[in-house]
Amino acid sequence: RAKANGGNRCQFYNHHLDREAVERIELRNALYQALPNQEFELHYQPQVSVHDARITCVEALIRWHHPDKGTVAPDCFIPLAEESGLIKEIGSWVLDTACQQLKTWRQAGLDLRVAVNLSAAQLDDMAFYQQVKECLERYELQPRHLELELTESILMRHVDHSIRLLNKLDQLGVHLSIDDFGTGYSSLSYLKRLPLDTLKIDRSFVRDLCTDQDDAVICRTIISMANNLKLSVTAEGVERAEQLHKLAEFGCDLYQGYLFSRPLPASDITRLYREYTPPENEHYTI
Ligand code: C2E
Ligand code: MG
Ligand code: MG
Ligand code: MG
Repeated sequence: RAKANGGNRCQFYNHHLDREAVERIELRNALYQALPNQEFELHYQPQVSVHDARITCVEALIRWHHPDKGTVAPDCFIPLAEESGLIKEIGSWVLDTACQQLKTWRQAGLDLRVAVNLSAAQLDDMAFYQQVKECLERYELQPRHLELELTESILMRHVDHSIRLLNKLDQLGVHLSIDDFGTGYSSLSYLKRLPLDTLKIDRSFVRDLCTDQDDAVICRTIISMANNLKLSVTAEGVERAEQLHKLAEFGCDLYQGYLFSRPLPASDITRLYREYTPPENEHYTI
């Protein structure tokens, strides 16, 4: 088989770049089988209110359980899925699976919103709007319980189209956010023109927030801008209590990161939500 030959040749050459290229081709081939073989799973990471410490939302993060390689991280295979055009199908699976899970949670009395990450290709036409609408109807969900995360680069690809699509999604009532905020090149004037609900501060600014003065200024500025634009603001990648205290002081609304919880399978989220009691407010005051 071609795949086996490729693998042997790679060993024979013993060349770093060749090996990487072969690895990528193998991964990409395996990716075609991943949906039919049901190798994908969604994990969910809590987003917690800085104000009252309640679990407000969970972000769906895709995991690929590769038959030989174990779990492959999305940063490794989402770009391949985008290149090969598989991302639309995978993205539809993610949306449907997250909505189905959300229905299960809400029926069980968990007051959660679910956030789903999007890739550029999913938004290329208005069909995406129809897809979201049908998904919400299929699972009898309130639109505001579904959040869609877009990056600046996705929005800036086709600005006019993005504005039209986002306006329709906003009229439907879904929650719209910008992911990895601060790493892209969106102009601030577009921020005002887009019907956004939330900015998510990229975790690269949060990491050294307590030691790097520049990062502290960036976080504080994004938070105060969001507050002024009446947008909610979420900090990603919060790993330590000191970071949370600073973010609270700056007026951040939600936080997400290993400090509270890693991304977990759905059943673990159910258990965590039920067993969790928000701590008293003094934990959150500075
Ligand atoms: P993202 O949307 O910015 O997701 C946050 C990433 O940060 C996740 O990585 C999460 O596990 C990680 N993270 C959370 N808390 C912490 C922390 O305290 N410290 C550190 N160091 N990392 C933290 P993950 O799950 O590997 O996902 C990586 C990226 O892959 C996501 O970044 C998103 O852009 C993309 N992705 C994930 N799932 C999907 C999906 O279903 N569709 C699409 N299109 N992209 C996805
Ligand atoms: Mg995200
Ligand atoms: Mg809205
Ligand atoms: Mg992010």
